[in-house]
Amino acid sequence: MTGDEDAVRAALAAAAAAGRDVPIGAVVLGPDGRVLAAARNAREELGDPTAHAELLALRAAARAHGDGWRLSGCTLAVTVEPCTMCAGALVLARVSRVVFGAWEPRTGAVGSLWDVVRDRRLNHRPEVRGGVLERECAALLEAFFATERTHPME
Ligand SMILES: [Zn+2]
Repeated sequence: MTGDEDAVRAALAAAAAAGRDVPIGAVVLGPDGRVLAAARNAREELGDPTAHAELLALRAAARAHGDGWRLSGCTLAVTVEPCTMCAGALVLARVSRVVFGAWEPRTGAVGSLWDVVRDRRLNHRPEVRGGVLERECAALLEAFFATERTHPME
C-alpha cells in the first residue's frame, strides 16, 4: 500500500463496520507499508471505555509485528484526530508516523486541543499529517450522528 490517502481509506473501511459504535477506524502499517492491523471503535460493543480504534489497532499490530511491543518505523492511520489516551499510547508504542483524517477540535490531542505527540519534553516524537481525506472522514461521523438524532432509541 502506498500513500497516506490509501492508509486513511483503509481506516475508513474499518470504520464502516462499527455498528452501534461511533464509526472511527484505524490501521497500522508496517515499515514496508503492509497493513499489520485494522480496527474500529468498539467501546459500546465491548463495554470498554478504552476500546478506541487506535488502541485496538496498536495492540493487534504489536502482536503481528514481531518486535515485542515496539512499533518503530510503523505508521498509524486513523479517520479522526486521536484523543489524549490514544496519542499517549502511540507515543509509548514508538509509532514513527501518525496520519489522520478529520480534525477533532473538542478532544483532539494531536494538534487541536492538545499536542501530546509533539511535546518537546518527549524524546520520541512521531511525524504527523492531519486532514487527509478530511471531508470523507467527517462525513462518516456526521451521517452517524444524524441517524442517532433521528432514531435515538435504536
Ligand atoms: Zn482515543
